[in-house]
Amino acid sequence: MNASERMAWLTTTEPAKLETLWQLADATRKKHVGDAVHLRGLVEISNYCCRECWYCGLRGERKILPRFRLSAAQIKDCVRLVLKLGYGTVVLQAGEDPGLDHRELAEVVRWIKGETPLAVTLSLGEQPEAHFRLWRQAGADRYLLKIETTDPVLLSHLHPGEPHGSRLENIQRLQDLGFEVGSGLLVGLPGQTYASVAQDLEWLAERDFDMIGIGPFVPHPDTPLAGMPGVGPDQAPNTELMTDKVLALTRLQCPDANLPATTALAVLGPDSGRRLALQRGANVVMPDVTPLEYRRLYNIYPGKGEGSVGPEAFHAQLVEMIRGLGRTVGQGPGSRQAHAGKKD
Ligand code: SAH
Repeated sequence: MNASERMAWLTTTEPAKLETLWQLADATRKKHVGDAVHLRGLVEISNYCCRECWYCGLRGERKILPRFRLSAAQIKDCVRLVLKLGYGTVVLQAGEDPGLDHRELAEVVRWIKGETPLAVTLSLGEQPEAHFRLWRQAGADRYLLKIETTDPVLLSHLHPGEPHGSRLENIQRLQDLGFEVGSGLLVGLPGQTYASVAQDLEWLAERDFDMIGIGPFVPHPDTPLAGMPGVGPDQAPNTELMTDKVLALTRLQCPDANLPATTALAVLGPDSGRRLALQRGANVVMPDVTPLEYRRLYNIYPGKGEGSVGPEAFHAQLVEMIRGLGRTVGQGPGSRQAHAGKKD
């Protein structure tokens, strides 16, 4: 796919063309990764953050937000729940928390790998290489670090104080250490144009990511981007439709990657978000198993974690939806390598 083809898909509003895009993405998904929808249990282990990312409700400056950090025992309880629900992967996510004890976390990872068959994914932001190495040695399989946008001007505005290129360097280090690496994008950031999203897609196509998360930007009222809606004819909208277009194009370019139907899509479209994403290229869902009292505080964008049901009830709804789509619930860790020999 070349640049002008990407732009044509991204900007089209013609229903017939969109229908073609959805069908192409769904057929590619089926051919390359099969009908299984892999479920990853998400545990939000800390909402402390030393960064000031303009889009995120966890930014350090947001003093009003009560902060929490789960103990090793609390994380292990969540892992037991992930096992009970039959998921093959646990994802440990946090703000960029300097107070997180990296040695203790390595011990938790070692315990999970020793006591359970789960794959372990970490998503803890940028970290010193020594931490990555220790966690990898402890058995962590995967790491998620989204680039969010590849536009260097936008990226440096949105990540104040972050040295130029440091996310990229972190991603490279993780790949060198042998992690299965996931990255991804935010769609519809103020100042993000269609052309910029087309470049993001090109960037993803040139790399070999195991997972790619595509989520809409959901403005948070208590961040600097609250009063700054994206404007202008070239502004990429932060809608469900636009996000689904980017997701579908990602599937066409990266046919065997694991692509989640993101929680942010479900916030924009409580009834349609996950369901349509699964029909437009996605093959993964990450149910949140964090205890409700903490999940509420992992407030990266509004609507997340509020009024949610508990993990068991959510799981039952999800399984019903997956079966209703004629899909199956994935078994085992669902790593990208596994798709090669097994189509569902
Ligand atoms: N500290 C980790 C994890 C961050 S939370 C890191 O930086 O990688 C995980 C994801 O939430 C981020 O990668 C970002 O894509 C998403 N996110 C943050 N703020 C958001 C917002 N306002 N709308 C939508 N997604 C958001």
